[in-house]
Amino acid sequence: MRQSQLFTKTRREAPADEVSKNAQLLIRAGYIHKEMAGVYAYLPLGLLVVEKIKQIVREEMNAIASQELIMTALQRKELWERTDRWNDEIVDVWFKSELKAGGEVGFGWSHEEPIGEMLKGHLTSYKDLPISVYQFQTKLRNEMRAKSGIMRGREFVMKDMYSFAADEASHLAYYEATKPAYMNVFKRVGVGDDTFITFAAGGAFTKFSHEFQTVCEAGEDVVYVNRAKGIAINEEVLNEETLASLGVTKDELEMLKTAEVGNIFNFGQQKAEDLGLTYKNEAGDSVAPFMGSYGIGVTRLMGVLVEKFADEKGIIWPASVAPFMVHLVGLNLEDEVIRDWVDGVYQNLRARGVSVLYDDRDLRPGEKFADSDLMGMPYRVVASRKGKEAGTFEVVTRATGAVRHLTEDELYNDFDADPDT
Ligand code: ATP
Ligand code: MG
Repeated sequence: MRQSQLFTKTRREAPADEVSKNAQLLIRAGYIHKEMAGVYAYLPLGLLVVEKIKQIVREEMNAIASQELIMTALQRKELWERTDRWNDEIVDVWFKSELKAGGEVGFGWSHEEPIGEMLKGHLTSYKDLPISVYQFQTKLRNEMRAKSGIMRGREFVMKDMYSFAADEASHLAYYEATKPAYMNVFKRVGVGDDTFITFAAGGAFTKFSHEFQTVCEAGEDVVYVNRAKGIAINEEVLNEETLASLGVTKDELEMLKTAEVGNIFNFGQQKAEDLGLTYKNEAGDSVAPFMGSYGIGVTRLMGVLVEKFADEKGIIWPASVAPFMVHLVGLNLEDEVIRDWVDGVYQNLRARGVSVLYDDRDLRPGEKFADSDLMGMPYRVVASRKGKEAGTFEVVTRATGAVRHLTEDELYNDFDADPDT
């Protein structure tokens, strides 16, 4: 991608009303556009990051035999009335609207009720089980406070997955299998060591639900962690009883500020019963399947990555989610000989499968470097007249600031062999 053609530019200032670091940086670097509080558009650069995260999640969900589908954003009032969740006293984040033809619809803030209803047409016999499906969906929630940038949107991308099983053993086995699958996602985006599977409230069938909490100053949650024992407890369930049941004391726990990047719920058979979802077992009886629900906040995770890895100069993307691996910064491009040469380097890198953002603009070096630091690609490759004469490129690793000088062959071999290092 030539930066001169890239839609949107970097900015010196974020909107005055934007208080979160993640949104400030993402707006300034041209990744997102703020439509209003808690509502952000994803520009070409931002979309590349969202899609990278989604692809990692997709691979890990496919690996536990879940199938991707996409449900609807508009939802039927009647479905939610059955479980009493149309009630604004019970669900306080609904956006609702009226149909011209009469009747009300809700904007999907969750999809548990609709998936249950959909399954009534597809789940008849025990032979249809187990089932696991997931989607990436823009969820709409009338969140009271939206001051955390993309970490708490009124519109945000979630991966939500739903599992259905005939017996408790296979249901629990699936529930347990989602934990390493989720941890693989968090490892692959670079926060594996900082993400804890946390005991939390909201367990319907079991006493606890499990949240995936990532250490993050800008997060809204507090968890108590014992790294050695591998135990993490959300403060909302931290009490004598919980501590005793987990075999820890409070003074063994470290308090951490975290952001909830995912969660998993085991509903047992209760949820399906509430939804009126049954199938015929081997004996021919109508029974409710065991159900689980599993979320990952895709865009919140993107915000967490910005918050955690940024420095005073700007964003630092982990290579696995960066929109481009290399930021090729061309200097002295007013000289046609130099421009032709850097254009050639750009083509050669691309021909080797390296994703490159090529700063081909007519700007001063200082401005280009400042933009490059702000945008946060893993590697900056500087191609200048001086470099051409010396036969070398300056290669800067954004995360560490480490500088190497590589010949053209070394440059190609380096990114060819293993672009991630
Ligand atoms: P929270 O307690 O942070 O409001 P939640 O309990 O409402 O989260 P779920 O409804 O289970 O979360 O959603 C699944 C995941 O979606 C969460 O773990 C979180 O990562 C993400 N998420 C929830 N609400 C938002 C939001 N308003 N903006 C961005 N991501 C969100
Ligand atoms: Mg919420």
